[in-house]
Amino acid sequence: MTHLGTLYILSAPSGAGKTSLVRALLAEDQQVRVSVSHTTRAMRVGEVEGQDYNFVSHDEFNAMIEAGQFLEFADVFGNKYGTSQAWVIEQLKQGVDVILEIDWQGAAQVRHLMPEAVCIFILPPSRDTLLQRLNARGQDSAEVIAGRMAEAVSEMSHYPEFDYLIVNDDFATALRDLQSVFVAQRLRQSSQQVRYASLLTELLS
Ligand code: 5GP
Repeated sequence: MTHLGTLYILSAPSGAGKTSLVRALLAEDQQVRVSVSHTTRAMRVGEVEGQDYNFVSHDEFNAMIEAGQFLEFADVFGNKYGTSQAWVIEQLKQGVDVILEIDWQGAAQVRHLMPEAVCIFILPPSRDTLLQRLNARGQDSAEVIAGRMAEAVSEMSHYPEFDYLIVNDDFATALRDLQSVFVAQRLRQSSQQVRYASLLTELLS
C-alpha cells in the first residue's frame, strides 16, 4: 500500500509527557493530524468526547472489532483502546501525516501492517522524575503509585522496538528532537522525489 502521508507512532509510559509534546508539535505543524482513538475506559475530568477519545461501551467496541474497523486495538491495563482504520488511511491518501498515540502492542500490530511507519518512543529523564509525575496530584496511595510505576516500566521495556528514542527532560529540547524526526522524514529521497518531481525532471533534462 503506498500512501502520500507518513504514519508516525508515538508511544511512552504515562508520565513521560507525550501528549504535551504532541500538542506543541501540532501547534506549529499544519501537515500533521492526530488520530482520536476509541476506548472503553471512563472519561476523566477535563476530557472531551471526540477530542481526547471516542468513548464507547464494551458492546460498541466489540462491534467495531467484528466489523473490522480497527487498524489496531489492544487491552491496555484493563481498558480497550483502538485506532479507526478508515480515518487514518483517508488522511494518508490525502498526503496528511498522521500520529498514532498508542501503546507498544498497538505499535507492533501497525508495524506489521505498515512497516514504513516511523516509530518514536518518549522516555522520562529519570525514575525519580517519573515517580513525581505519576504522583502529580499527591493524593494517591503508595499502592496505586506502585501500580502505575510497574505499568510504566512494563511499557518502557519495549523501547528497543522503536526507531527513535526521545528523552523528555527539558521540554523545549524534547520538542525540537521530535520536530527533527519529522523534518528528517520529509527530507527522505522517496518523499522529496514526489515533492520535487518537476524540478528533478527539469534538472535532469
Ligand atoms: P490513557 O488511558 O492514559 O489515555 O492511555 C493509556 C494507554 O493507552 C497509553 O499508553 C496510550 O498510548 C494507550 N492508547 C491510547 N489510545 C490507544 C489506541 O488507540 N490503541 C492502543 N493500542 N493504545 C492506545
